[in-house]
Amino acid sequence: MSQECDILIIGAGIAGLRAALTASQFGKVILLTKGKIGESATEKAQGGIAAAIDEIRDSTQFHFEDTIKAGAGLCNEDAVRILVNEGVDRVKELIEMGAQFDKAETEGGFALALEGAHKRRRILHAGDATGAEIEKTLGYNVIKEGLVEVYPLTLGIKLEVNDGQCFGAVALDTKNNKIETFFSKATILTTGGVCQNYLYTTNPEVATGDGVAMAYNEGAEVTDMEFIQFHPTTLVHSKEFEDIVALPQFLISEAVRGEGAILLNNRGERFIEELAPRDIVSRAIVEEMNKTNADHVFLSLKLPPEKTKNRFPVIYKTCLERGLDITRDQIPVAPGAHYFMGGVKTDTNAKTNIKNLFAAGECASLGVHGANRLASNSLLDGLVFGHRAALSAREVLNGKVKFKSSPSPFTKNTLTPREIKRYMLIIKTTMWNDVGIIRSEQSLKNAQNKLNKLPIFTPQDRAEAELQNMLCTARLITQAALDRKESRGAHFRTDHTKIDDIKWKKHLIYKK
Ligand SMILES: Cc1cc2nc3c(=O)[nH]c(=O)nc-3n(C[C@H](O)[C@H](O)[C@H](O)COP(=O)(O)OP(=O)(O)OC[C@H]3O[C@@H](n4cnc5c(N)ncnc54)[C@H](O)[C@@H]3O)c2cc1C
Repeated sequence: MSQECDILIIGAGIAGLRAALTASQFGKVILLTKGKIGESATEKAQGGIAAAIDEIRDSTQFHFEDTIKAGAGLCNEDAVRILVNEGVDRVKELIEMGAQFDKAETEGGFALALEGAHKRRRILHAGDATGAEIEKTLGYNVIKEGLVEVYPLTLGIKLEVNDGQCFGAVALDTKNNKIETFFSKATILTTGGVCQNYLYTTNPEVATGDGVAMAYNEGAEVTDMEFIQFHPTTLVHSKEFEDIVALPQFLISEAVRGEGAILLNNRGERFIEELAPRDIVSRAIVEEMNKTNADHVFLSLKLPPEKTKNRFPVIYKTCLERGLDITRDQIPVAPGAHYFMGGVKTDTNAKTNIKNLFAAGECASLGVHGANRLASNSLLDGLVFGHRAALSAREVLNGKVKFKSSPSPFTKNTLTPREIKRYMLIIKTTMWNDVGIIRSEQSLKNAQNKLNKLPIFTPQDRAEAELQNMLCTARLITQAALDRKESRGAHFRTDHTKIDDIKWKKHLIYKK
């Protein structure tokens, strides 16, 4: 079976939904998502979205400076200018579409929060469920007019690329187990991040790097693969919850530290400036855990109980369900893999090196976050560059395209479900132990050895496809981490502890 459209979008988080809204003005749009709308990192985002909307106390220049500083020398300044400037307009549009952010009498009408490494309060939030509010708003607007054909439970498996030009994608309808080809004049990848590659991660189960692997396999350049951001504070489950350890770790938002919460080791001592950049706080926590032989440190809130409940209702409720009353109890926390600064290499118009293939959001990398993302800048990234991707897609809609069909029907599974789980666990533990917060040549070579032993084959269903995609990106992350012989931003090596601008102030690019 095959379908045709002008613009095919793969992924329904903030980048995909924003791209779909803009693209729907230009032609027939099809949006694929492997889960339902709402199964995304966007949906889980808590803290908020950064934008310099308070023109009195803040400015886009301050936002620019904070982003550049966090990026540790690898930000693309043009991309950051676009992010902070256009971001203000995109956020205002989101509010016009109906997004309800918390209000206040001051600060331009909104209750703006402070997060690590921001010198001003500029984080718009909807309680601690900001992503859900944004996903709901964009999703509602995409669906309400019926302007976009949405295919949920449809997994993009392979891009249709011939002679350096993309013609759409082959996908698996996972409900009916049917292969379908979606031909398009322009294709936009918005498939999100890769952090399911790690044993401990805040990312949803869909974050298996599918878009990055699909693009790489067809000749796209990928870049900055070594830069994974580890969030310092994810909830450490008590023994009683050990069985759910393989699920995404529940995040305790940075906004909690923004509201004055402090970090304590298990001797009750403070050990770090809580709002330092995430890589510094994450490493300090790991060192403290090692020193005190513990699997967590504690986060201690100082807010009055009612304020805690109002400001952080989701965190309060989730912790309560797990036996912790955060108005009283300290929260056991440890770092987890959280955000991917690398991805398919794009320019500021979301173009890849493959004709008519665009990418935006967490699966794309254009240097907007450099070697370390500033908190709450990634929702903004998806919003700004999702929109830009759709504008670029419009430019290629005029020419006539002859679609060439090449889908090969799936046959029998290669692996048993047990084998798939076992291989996934090998990837996750290897990446966590050897390509994690603290790396070295030896740990990275160990990782390469282990990953190289895993089988490569043509996948026949969703689980097999995800396993192959995880393996592909895990190998690329490991290779890039091995190649970058310095420590910069989120990439830290014990054998090259210093930043080395002379040799390494550059992006590493990989192509199959
Ligand atoms: C717990 C948590 C909290 C966060 N908090 C914040 C925050 O407060 N502020 C902030 O700025 N950022 C935050 N982030 C980061 C931010 O949420 C993400 O970077 C951002 O939402 C990514 O958006 P996206 O559209 O690129 O991808 P996603 O939102 O992850 O969406 C990806 C979409 O692609 C689909 N997909 C994937 N593979 C395929 C495939 N093969 N075929 C079809 N569909 C596919 C998925 O199902 C999903 O719909 C947080 C992330 C997490 C996990």
